[in-house]
Parts: sequence; structure tokens; C-alpha cells
Amino acid sequence: MLEGRVAIITGGTRGIGLEIVRTFKENKAEVILFGSKKETVEEAVLKLKEEGMEVKGYYPNLNSTEEINQVIEEIMKDYGHIDILVNNAGISANKKIEDTTSEDFVKIMDLNVNAIFNMTKAVVPYMKERKDGVILNTSSMVSIYGQPSGVGYPTSKFAVNGLTKSLARELAPFHIRVNAVAPGITNTDMVASLPKEMIEPLIKTIPLGRIGEPRDIANAFLFLASDLASYITGIVLSVDGAARS
Ligand code: NAD
Repeated sequence: MLEGRVAIITGGTRGIGLEIVRTFKENKAEVILFGSKKETVEEAVLKLKEEGMEVKGYYPNLNSTEEINQVIEEIMKDYGHIDILVNNAGISANKKIEDTTSEDFVKIMDLNVNAIFNMTKAVVPYMKERKDGVILNTSSMVSIYGQPSGVGYPTSKFAVNGLTKSLARELAPFHIRVNAVAPGITNTDMVASLPKEMIEPLIKTIPLGRIGEPRDIANAFLFLASDLASYITGIVLSVDGAARS
């Protein structure tokens, strides 16, 4: 479904991002994964190699436009074009507002929102030149109704939806589609790091009766990245077993 496409996936070293990498590779894309650290990027690239998948890995600071531009230029030299950008890297929060510092709030906005802006700004000129491109952002079901603590996280994901819908309008004349996927509770390290008392009652309320698996989410990204979604832009696709309602 993605033959001949070049895709960058941020937060591609584990969890949802790693599964998007696998799914895109299985569908014949050239994939470049980004992670936060040299070691985790090398580990992920090696793991994929053992699974028979060749990918490149980089670890630019997503809040440094200089580092991002340098890596994007390198990718352009190697591949000649960038067709798909998946802005997936993200961190969560669960502290009460009294315990949340302004630094905590800024940190979450820096990665979950500002990094998406920086990455998007860096690839859009290349996509505009070819009048073709797909930008996909990882939102969350909490972007629909918030969550009972960790206010920075849902705030950041509401912003992801705003950025998605707005850029979809701005970039549509250039045939660049911009969409988001809003996963429900998904079986990754991010969820493993949250208190059981918080997660278990939530799983019980999911109408489809189970937690999401990374492949459930990656399949939605595959659909939106592919030509099957050629007339879809500006949507936030919920993939959450109906947990949002
Ligand atoms: P994860 O913690 O397993 O993976 C996070 C990824 O982000 C890793 O690849 C990591 O390298 C990268 N990352 C973390 N900090 C970074 C930094 N400072 N700079 C660059 N990269 C950094 O998380 P996950 O569950 O796979 O989450 C992926 C995305 O899905 C996030 O945007 C998250 O908000 C969203 N999401 C997750 C769930 C869930 O239940 N797991 C639900 C809804 C949305």
C-alpha cells in the first residue's frame, strides 16, 4: 500500500511508533525512524534488522529546528523526497494540578505540540514542491473529553487536533493531507508506567472489552497514509474500542 513512499516516524523506537514502522515496512515504504536517544534508536534499528526490516534511525532534538533541518536535509540527499511524516513521539502526565509545575507543563507541550510544529514546518516545503504529501499526528482519546489528572497531556492533544484540522485546510491546495489518529488505552510502555488503579477501571469501561494493541493503531495510520484515504483530510480518527463515548 505504500510502495515507493518515504516515511519519517517520530517516536519510532517502541510502542505505537515501532508498530507503525513495522506496518509501513510490510507495505513496502522506505522508513526512517526517529527516537530520543542514540542507544534506543540503535537498539530499535537492530531489532528490526533481526526481523528482516532495514530502516534508518536518527535522534534529533525535536525542539531544535537546527538539528531537525540538518537531519531532514540528509534524508532528502539520501532519498530525494519525503512523502509521509508521522508525528508520533509523545509523553503523558498524571499529576494533580497542585503537583504539576510550570516546567512539567512546558515539557509536555514542547514534545507533544511544539515538536510537531517543528517537524511539520521542516518537511512542508519539500512536500509543497512535489504537491504531494501526508502528515499524520498521534492524538489521543483524551483530546475529546480530557482526563481526571495530568492536565498538560489532554491539553497538548487538544492542540494536536487543532493543528491537524487547521493545517489540513492550509495545505489542501498543495495536495498535502493532514490527519490524526486518537488511540484509546493501548498496550505500550506509556500505559505500563501509569498506576494500575488508574488503568484497570478504565479498561472495564471499554465497550469492545479489551485494551488496544499497537497493531490496532498502526493499521489506522496505514489506512490514512495510503491512497485509500485520498479524499480524507482534517479528521481525528478514534481507534479506541468506543471508549470515548
Ligand atoms: P511510548 O512511551 O511507548 O513511546 C514513546 C516514543 O516517543 C518513544 O519512541 C520515544 O523514543 C519517543 N520519545 C519520548 N520522549 C521523546 C523526546 N523527548 N524526544 C523525542 N522522542 C521522544 O509511548 P506510546 O504509548 O507508544 O505513545 C506514542 C504516542 O501515542 C504518543 O504521542 C502518545 O501520547 C500516544 N497515545 C498513547 C496511548 C497509549 O495508551 N499508549 C493512548 C493515546 C495516545
